[in-house]
Amino acid sequence: MRILLVEDEKSLQSLLLLNLQAEGYEVKIAETGKEAIQLFSRESFQLIILDIMLPEMDGIEVCRRIRLSDQKTPILFLTARDSSEDRIQGLRIGGDDYLSKPFVLEELLLRVQNLLRRSGAQFKVMKNVFVFGSNEVNFDTYEATGKVGKINLTKIEARLLKMLIDHRNEVVSRKQILHTVWGYDVYPSTRTIDNFIMSFRKYFEDDSRNPQYFHSVRGVGYKFVS
Ligand code: CA
Repeated sequence: MRILLVEDEKSLQSLLLLNLQAEGYEVKIAETGKEAIQLFSRESFQLIILDIMLPEMDGIEVCRRIRLSDQKTPILFLTARDSSEDRIQGLRIGGDDYLSKPFVLEELLLRVQNLLRRSGAQFKVMKNVFVFGSNEVNFDTYEATGKVGKINLTKIEARLLKMLIDHRNEVVSRKQILHTVWGYDVYPSTRTIDNFIMSFRKYFEDDSRNPQYFHSVRGVGYKFVS
């Protein structure tokens, strides 16, 4: 479980860091709103602890921006005592819970636990299912539903698909694909990857000649666009 802690007060920062780590969480710290947004866009977190009073960009704005692309990751606000306005705005903008400073550490840890548990159920159900357009892929069972109906993916197909989807909207090079999907031992030809991409288009594209999702980038690699 990874937590993004956004707090500019050093003493509170280290207190929370130590205690969250003691509970077994992996914690990344951001001291400004901008840093928080950058970290969140680059790495995956299961929860965000977000101080409202931050230099430059406040926690409310950070939450608003995160919620543009992510509605699920729980956000626990830390607010100054007596600022009910902040609390209301924080919850309205997509925060899940708040705690007023100064707070009892035990209470924070319990709230963190609760938020994670609540989102955990949702996370499990959604975890390995990816939906794009009218297509659906379940990476636990290797079953997919596409234009052609139900598809049982092979292990290699599922791995390649997962890799492209994990790197969606980025170009993935052939070399990356070979290393990740086939490992170092067996090196299929580029042609083999092309054949897989052609299958994906047949499974999932409305018009496999004018792909919407599975793009080849000549001389470089492939890109899944969603
Ligand atoms: Ca602060």
